[in-house]
Formats: sequence, C-alpha cells, structure tokens
Amino acid sequence: MRARGIRISPEGAEGCRRRLQQLGLLDRTLRSVSLDGMIVFPVTAYPAKLEEGERCEADFPDSSSRENYRDIVELPDDAMPLLPSSFDMIGTKALVKLPPELERFGGEIGRAILEAHGSLDSVFQDRGVAGEFRLRRLTLLAGKGGTETKLNEYGLRMALDVAKTFYSPRLASERRRIGIAVAPGERVLDMFAGVGPFALHAARSASSGHVVAIDINPYAVSYMKENAASNSAGNMEAHLMDAAEYTGGPFDRIIMNLPAGGAGFVGRALAMLADGGTVDYYELIEDRNLEKRILSLEAEGGRVESHRKVKSYSPVQGIYHFAIRKALNRGARG
Ligand code: SAM
Repeated sequence: MRARGIRISPEGAEGCRRRLQQLGLLDRTLRSVSLDGMIVFPVTAYPAKLEEGERCEADFPDSSSRENYRDIVELPDDAMPLLPSSFDMIGTKALVKLPPELERFGGEIGRAILEAHGSLDSVFQDRGVAGEFRLRRLTLLAGKGGTETKLNEYGLRMALDVAKTFYSPRLASERRRIGIAVAPGERVLDMFAGVGPFALHAARSASSGHVVAIDINPYAVSYMKENAASNSAGNMEAHLMDAAEYTGGPFDRIIMNLPAGGAGFVGRALAMLADGGTVDYYELIEDRNLEKRILSLEAEGGRVESHRKVKSYSPVQGIYHFAIRKALNRGARG
C-alpha cells in the first residue's frame, strides 16, 4: 500500500523507529521496507519536527502478513516451539541464542530474521560472552557478515564491533537512567567503559563536568574515542588501561559495569570517590543472596543507598544495581 514514510540510513534506523513509536506516529498496519540501502518506516503522519531522516512516500507491505520471523521460518513441527521469542538487534546485526536442538536449522532461522527485519544485514548465532573483554562468541547464520556496525542509543551515536567489543542493547534504558541522574559539573569515572555507552550518557549530562572512561580492550577504547568525537563529547576522555592500575580522582560518581568480575574493584573505587559521592555498581548475584551481599558491600566502607534488579539472568540469578554512597565527612565538600 502506498503511504507516507520516513527514510533513514540503517545505522539510524533503530533510534528513529523508537522515536516514531514514542510519538505514536508509526503505522502499525504496515511493515517497514528496505529501499536502495535505506530503511523506510511507514507513518500515520509526518512528525512536526524531523530530527533525522527524510519524508517520502513508498509502497509498504501489510503488517498482518508477516512481521514475526517465527511466522516465516519453516521447521519440523516439534522444533517450532523451541524458537526463541526474542533476540538482540545491535545496529544492522541480529544476535540470536539457539538451543542445541535448533542449531542445525540456524541458516533457515537467520534468513527468516533477515526477511522479517529490513534494517538488518546479518544474523549471528550468539554463544554467550566470555573472557576478560566479555566478548560474544558468534557464528554467521545468514546475511553478508561483517561485525562492525553503528547504532543510535537515545540520541547518542555509537560505532562498535559486535565480535571485538562488548555491547548490550538490553541495558540501554539503565544507561539512560544513570545518565539522567548525573548532575552538571559532576566528575565521573567509568571503570569498565567498553565502547563508552554509560560514559557518553554521563558526559551529555555532566556538561561542565568531566568523564574519565577506561577499558582494558584496545578495540573498545578505539571505538570509544571515535564515539566521543562523533557525539562532540569534549568533556570525556578515554584511556586504554587496566582498572586495577588506574589511580585518579576524587570522583563524584564511579560507574562499575563488570557484573561477573567487578567485585574485587569496589574497595578501589570507594578510595577514589569524593565524600558524598556514589558508586553505581552492577553485579550478577543469586537472588537469595541479595541481603547478604548488601551487608558485605557495606563492609567495604560505603552505604548501599538503593538497590534494584536490572534484569534476570536465570530463574535464580539477576544483574543488580547497587548505589553505594560514601559518607560525607564533616567539613568536606558536598
Ligand atoms: N560499560 C560497558 C557497557 O555497558 O557496554 C561495557 C561493559 S562490559 C560488561 C565490561 C567491560 O570491562 C569490557 O569492555 C571489558 O573489556 C572491560 N574490562 C574487563 N576487565 C577490565 C579491567 N581490569 N580494567 C578495565 N576494563 C576491564
């Protein structure tokens, strides 16, 4: 059906789709299309202010036909219930976790995902993260391959490589939440910064402040520098460094997102924190150990002011955020 649309490059597509959805302008009766290397989203009306992309008209397929890859893929009946209901989309790459029974159908599944999502160019099987750099082990299932991509996270542009750097779209709203909490003028350290998503959110809010972001993975730091430049984050510096060797501060906020390995760094972070400052600490723990963990974190010298489960990891484990505050010393700065 011929309708109004917004035409955008694949890198900006996911951010644009989200914004159109938030504005209530995405036409859900139609499906997006890929035209001459650009993505076109069907809209019920053009947005009053167009921050990115351009207005156009295009022919869109009816969404009721096929928009879920599970409606497209053809597998034996006993395999269909095992198909994952969701997968990660990082820029133009999809990363899907498959149970062992589905591995032999990986090609069919990958092609169906590509067919259902016009903004993607490759689908990889994701065998989980491993190693010091927390890298995903990936196998190409369908598409042109290549692991470098670009995306937009709440208006922040980021380039990254899904095989050589860590990035999880599932933490995007958490990063935004922390970014919003950062006050202008804050001095922030991101100890395990990856390609810089937390640091970029912090730098945007800490306008007159300063953000130091470090990571031990050279690829991550190289992308982080590129991302700081492309977002004009002049108040952010990125360093290739082991957090165990970094000394600096004092900082008003220290972000620690290494959920399965950051525990040994909490004391170090508290030592670099200004009085009254906060550590935003993430850790993967068993749900039943929550109260015990709060007590052991407080034994390191701070006070756990708040905690919340950010996401489930297994039926009995979750990634938790702990806001650990260092007490204000009488006479010290606020
Ligand atoms: N904060 C980023 C994000 O949210 O996308 C990345 C988080 S990722 C779970 C953890 C990062 O810590 C990885 O990029 C890894 O290379 C880095 N890392 C691991 N050990 C480190 C260390 N000792 N010093 C500095 N960075 C480290």
